[in-house]
Amino acid sequence: MKLSLWTYEGPPHVGAMRIAASMRGVHYVLHAPQGDTYADLLFTMIERRSTRPPVTYTTFQARDLSGSTADIFKTACQAAVDRFQPEALLVGASCTAELLQDDPGGLARALDMPLPVIPLELPSYQKKENWGAAETFYRLVRAFAGPVARPAEIAPNSCNILGPTALGFRCRDDVEEIRRLLTDEGFDVRVVAPLDASPADLARLPEAAFNIVLYPEIADTAARWLQKTHGMPFTATIPIGVGATRRFLAEARALAGFALQSTGESGQGGKDRLTWYARSVDSTYLTNKRVFIFGDATHAIAAARIASEELGFRVCGLGTYMREFARDVREAAARYGVDALITDDHLDVEAAIVAARPELVLGTQMERHIAKRLRVPCAVISAPVHVQDFPARYSPQMGFEGANVIFDSWVHPLMMGLEEHLLQMFRDDFEFNDEAAASHLHPHATAEQVDAPAPAEAARIWTVDAERELKKVPFFVRGKARRNTELFAASKGIHPITVETLYDAKAHFAR
Ligand code: SF4
Repeated sequence: MKLSLWTYEGPPHVGAMRIAASMRGVHYVLHAPQGDTYADLLFTMIERRSTRPPVTYTTFQARDLSGSTADIFKTACQAAVDRFQPEALLVGASCTAELLQDDPGGLARALDMPLPVIPLELPSYQKKENWGAAETFYRLVRAFAGPVARPAEIAPNSCNILGPTALGFRCRDDVEEIRRLLTDEGFDVRVVAPLDASPADLARLPEAAFNIVLYPEIADTAARWLQKTHGMPFTATIPIGVGATRRFLAEARALAGFALQSTGESGQGGKDRLTWYARSVDSTYLTNKRVFIFGDATHAIAAARIASEELGFRVCGLGTYMREFARDVREAAARYGVDALITDDHLDVEAAIVAARPELVLGTQMERHIAKRLRVPCAVISAPVHVQDFPARYSPQMGFEGANVIFDSWVHPLMMGLEEHLLQMFRDDFEFNDEAAASHLHPHATAEQVDAPAPAEAARIWTVDAERELKKVPFFVRGKARRNTELFAASKGIHPITVETLYDAKAHFAR
């Protein structure tokens, strides 16, 4: 048993759901207790999909345990196939159903349905979401690309993009960015999978010369299998950051047998704004800023490289919650002279952040909370993320435009931090003090408040507790809160002013 409050990853069947929801023509029958449909919300609310994920749950209840849950599973399978008529069926169990040992694969096979059935063995008590996604993708690739032979003639510039998924951090825009980059460079992008691919597309994977692996957490296993089975090489560089994007293109060009002359800095010079922004004199203050980085392995390693090589920050901490990629993160951490933090316990992460004393935290949604508590500027670089990191606007992380997005999203919290710091420093200044108007740009904003008759002296006595509570109000509105509370107390004949009066006044003026 482990006491857990926050988890960085869901159970592995959520990973399998992500693959099913990424693809077309795939349906997933999940043996799961009533209530597990909560996972639908990840897709419909966080990713804002307009359709339900293609998942049928058996939703067995306590009373079903006295009967045959296997029959419930078989009925759900048949109903899903009849209703949705998928091209392929994934079948598996959630954590609770795993304990029942109903064997979804065997049960589905017994139904003898006229479509490929791919059983998933996802050990919920040992593995997690990303592993579940990688395993599911691998099983699907194996099922559809396994039986096909590689064509005799293959265009050397043809490639597939592997790894983008539903609920992946900025996958939607990364794919667009990288596909455009590759097409502009003369590559022929064939299949993108699993995002938007069908089982028939997976069968076409061996027709390309090589594979581009954008998210190793999802696609590494499948890419290795394609290499072993069909002799397809794959890229190892993740194009996050300007330097990495250039190296990625050079690697892809080498795999395609292109001439080398247009690679390198001059080949893509000026395609990003990060390089110039980071070199401009306004960025001098970024030099040696201490940055703590935590996330999935791919994004954490990429962020450390950008922070150190492209923005001039000093990496004071680097870690991941993905044990499967601990070795890669350890190697990266060694390059920056820090010990890698490999943990899925957010309390360990918080302790490490406190010890490292960073000036900027780059992390997941969890680190956003930790940094907020510690009052350290923060930007999100990796899943798990909340709805605001599935934005409507184009926001890749990869490629040259991704580098622009990264520059903005990392530097803005630092600027806001600087502004806040200056406001605190000058809080006794005539423009910024507690009693000044809400903003020095709007000198008349609180004029009526200031001109309002001052309450009698007796109504302006505060208890010690109330004064302490008032200090919790942000300083830039504290003056207004004090005046409003005193006016309220005077009008009601209350004195001295207590914590309760403060909140009554707040409620009164909020009406
Ligand atoms: S089966 Fe797993 S995911 Fe579903 S409620 Fe139980 S522990 Fe959670």
